[in-house]
Amino acid sequence: MNALERVLPAPIPTQDSQPFWDAAKEGRFLIKRCANCGKAHWYPRPLCPFCLSDDTVWLDSAGTGVIYTFSVMVRAAAPFVLAFVTLDEGPTLLSNLVNCEPGALAIGQPVRVLFRASDGEYPVPVFEPASNRQTTLPRAIADSALRAADDR
Ligand SMILES: [Zn+2]
Repeated sequence: MNALERVLPAPIPTQDSQPFWDAAKEGRFLIKRCANCGKAHWYPRPLCPFCLSDDTVWLDSAGTGVIYTFSVMVRAAAPFVLAFVTLDEGPTLLSNLVNCEPGALAIGQPVRVLFRASDGEYPVPVFEPASNRQTTLPRAIADSALRAADDR
């Protein structure tokens, strides 16, 4: 079973989240860090949830983390996996796990972000097992390189 072959609903950017969605269109995953206390937070917002400072800055996340917990939605028409992912920068966020075998997932497993098209203008960040990509090449190039290797 390959999880999540469903179309995700389009996000509706707000004034505060617009930079996040603009970056998502470029394949960049932004989070926010507080310049006062130094902690990163999710979701992006103008006030730091730890110290209430309004001195927050956008930060390009590495997009890597681990599964904090997950749940397989087996009763959906197209089964999918919801998960809380703890980013290497610290914050934990709710997302979807894709390109995975749900029965082989484990808490603590390394994952990394990728973007899936939504039914609107902006792509949505989801995560896949980090073991799917042992390369730093862009995914499309890596996939075509793998196909070329398979053809040999
Ligand atoms: Zn702070």
